[in-house]
Amino acid sequence: MSNWVDETRIALDNVVDNVQNIFTPHLRLGVTGLSRAGKTVFITSLIHQLIEGNNLPLFKPLAEGRIIGAKLSPLPNHTMPRFGFEEYLKALTGKDRHWPTSTRQISELRLTIKYQSASWVGGITGPQELHIDIVDYPGEWLLDLPLLNKSYAEWSTDAFERASEPARSDLAKNWKLFSNAIKPDSDIVEADAQALSEAFKTYLAECREDVHALSALPPGRFLMPGDLEGSPALTFAPLPPQSGTKPNNSFYATMEKRYEAYKDLVVRPFFRDHFARLDRQIVLVDTLSALNAGPAAVQDLQGAISEILSCFRTGSNNILTSLFSSNIDRILFASTKADHLHHTSHNQLELILNHLVANAARDAQYKGAATSSIALSSVRATREGEVEHEGEMLPTIIGTPQKGEKLDTKTYNGKTEIALFPGELPQKPESVFDPEADHIGQLKFLRFCPPAPETTDSGNIKLPHIRMDRAIEFLIGDKLQ
Ligand code: GDP
Repeated sequence: MSNWVDETRIALDNVVDNVQNIFTPHLRLGVTGLSRAGKTVFITSLIHQLIEGNNLPLFKPLAEGRIIGAKLSPLPNHTMPRFGFEEYLKALTGKDRHWPTSTRQISELRLTIKYQSASWVGGITGPQELHIDIVDYPGEWLLDLPLLNKSYAEWSTDAFERASEPARSDLAKNWKLFSNAIKPDSDIVEADAQALSEAFKTYLAECREDVHALSALPPGRFLMPGDLEGSPALTFAPLPPQSGTKPNNSFYATMEKRYEAYKDLVVRPFFRDHFARLDRQIVLVDTLSALNAGPAAVQDLQGAISEILSCFRTGSNNILTSLFSSNIDRILFASTKADHLHHTSHNQLELILNHLVANAARDAQYKGAATSSIALSSVRATREGEVEHEGEMLPTIIGTPQKGEKLDTKTYNGKTEIALFPGELPQKPESVFDPEADHIGQLKFLRFCPPAPETTDSGNIKLPHIRMDRAIEFLIGDKLQ
């Protein structure tokens, strides 16, 4: 589909959105982040916190007593998969509590907030409603958008350059062996194309594993296929750049055609139908996993943030934003799972993420929507305490470790809980890139079970969190004035 057709459709959709906005004000909030960054848990907590309204002291409209209530409403778009809020909340708070199933594809949910406006107009008009359409989508798909600006040869060059970086070169060996055996000029053999593509996907998947925790790994559907699982549309791989045009049925030309088809049939529709219609965006980042994996993973994470920011950049040289005028006016980067740290480290985690976002913005020559960084925990799975270690009192976190976690810490209070000193984050954010820095190899992050449910005085379930109220205030507070 040509760009001007996209452009017209996006413009029309935006007109329809704006007209609808006059009658039923709404805000489309995108929630993204790479696999296991914490999207499902974040959205479940966000909705629960807003419906219950009992645990958000820094969310101003609530603190000012102007929120009358919040409830789920039917989805405006009947073809979109619905975010499984009820099932996920039950998983987190039910008898056999466990973390819910992670995001595998795009889904949506509408939350309607009834509130009293703070302005004098509100006194005349009475209570108002704001629909918040929460759109959950894999960050891997967002990292595909820069492909719209890249030819097959450019993407292949990037992929081979990245694969030669020290953190990736060993993992890429097998795929490169397959790749070297391919003759780009010879006729395509489907079995070879499949084997090559599988080897490339295996390499990408290994890069994502916890020990490496690498982030920038397009094409996104190779890792997060959604409804394209097993589809032949995903049977391609990069090949070393070639000179001259290749015969139509050659291996190279076929790979190039499939790459272009992927852009047209997968990336562009996602961009046009979903991304281009968002008003606000939160990008969840698992900074702690990257810190745990070491400086190469942190550098890679910064590269991924830079690619993400390039999707939101406004400017004439960006095909994405030249297609439409972006609605997005705020982007929040959130470092999730802050409950893995003692509260004395939360500001430090926020500073580290802020440093990565600032570097990434510089690299991407970012100009556009306001950005902010925060450290949060959607569902706080730990409490805090102190333990004595060699005469020194160390700040610890206390929680129930998930099955399968390797423990070198004592059982706490005779329960299944453990008290853990997670280590200290580097004081200077720039030392996250230093392989000799003190924190390297010293940080200990365990996976904890969700917390035992708490109830309020009125018997409602209370999900503990860290700084969710600040995130909610940044994302929607001004829309409830
Ligand atoms: P998604 O792939 O982005 O949807 O990630 P999920 O929301 O499914 O989260 C992935 C995993 O991260 C969960 O299964 C939990 O183990 C963990 N997790 C997510 N949020 C939190 C949090 O706030 N605190 C803790 N301790 N763990 C979390």
